[in-house]
Amino acid sequence: MTDTPADDLKPSFRSDVTVELVKHTASDADVLFAARVSTLGEQSLDELQKDPERSKGLINYLMRDRHGSPFEHNSMTFFVSAPIFVFREFMRHRVGWSYNEESGRYRELQPVFYVPDADRKLVQEGRPGKYVFVEGTKEQQTLVGRAMEDSYRQSYEAYQEMLAAGVAREVARSVLPVGLYSSMYATCNARSLMHFLGLRTQHELAKVPSFPQREIEMVGEKMEAEWARLMPLTYAAFNANGRVAP
Ligand SMILES: Cc1cc2nc3c(=O)[nH]c(=O)nc-3n(C[C@H](O)[C@H](O)[C@H](O)COP(=O)(O)OP(=O)(O)OC[C@H]3O[C@@H](n4cnc5c(N)ncnc54)[C@H](O)[C@@H]3O)c2cc1C
Repeated sequence: MTDTPADDLKPSFRSDVTVELVKHTASDADVLFAARVSTLGEQSLDELQKDPERSKGLINYLMRDRHGSPFEHNSMTFFVSAPIFVFREFMRHRVGWSYNEESGRYRELQPVFYVPDADRKLVQEGRPGKYVFVEGTKEQQTLVGRAMEDSYRQSYEAYQEMLAAGVAREVARSVLPVGLYSSMYATCNARSLMHFLGLRTQHELAKVPSFPQREIEMVGEKMEAEWARLMPLTYAAFNANGRVAP
């Protein structure tokens, strides 16, 4: 049986992603504290903040020479709402990440679906490994919107029909597409986030270019903005050293 009121069964369509920093213990001082135990043993926070230029230099040195472990002594938890196909890519990042995602077995999935907005480039030109994305025509944009919305409506109706007939949620969900929104908490540290950003964002300062799908890049850009605010020296050193995780 469906537990959702009839009004909420109407599909809604989104083109954006949600990323909220819900919890964190992350600052540049966490990097300094971990790095300086090598030479100083235990230190107070005051000692760490005594010489900002030296702190900046130390973080840059660690990044440049890829001394990575001092960047692991911090934690950021993000709430993410995005299409399932983004989560599929996201969860390939195994190291330094923890995930908990909403369940299609234990709750009825809500009819919220992804439709790209007019800025999303629709056409891939070139061969695998060497291609660019270009704008679609007006006709292609209209087709994408219509085909996706029709298909989403149809699949959600089938899902609801099965639930109403008493079929278990875990069985009925098979008909739902990867454009359906899901949500998760994802927890990482600065080192694992840098590795993720190096692969899932495009940036003019990147020494090693990557070609991520735009929708996971949208999530990455929002995470990056939150992290840059929390750890400005580490963020600056990441950019200055070609956006390669240490
Ligand atoms: C543009 C792009 C296209 C992609 N296309 C595809 C695709 O077509 N098909 C596909 O399946 N995937 C694809 N991927 C996913 C990709 O192969 C990686 O799984 C994903 O980027 C996570 O990277 P990672 O393994 O380095 O990260 P993590 O899993 O977080 O690992 C971090 C690092 O830990 C080390 N490590 C982790 N696990 C192991 C291990 N088992 N053995 C040795 N070292 C390990 C490695 O140094 C690794 O870089 C793509 C990724 C990108 C960015």
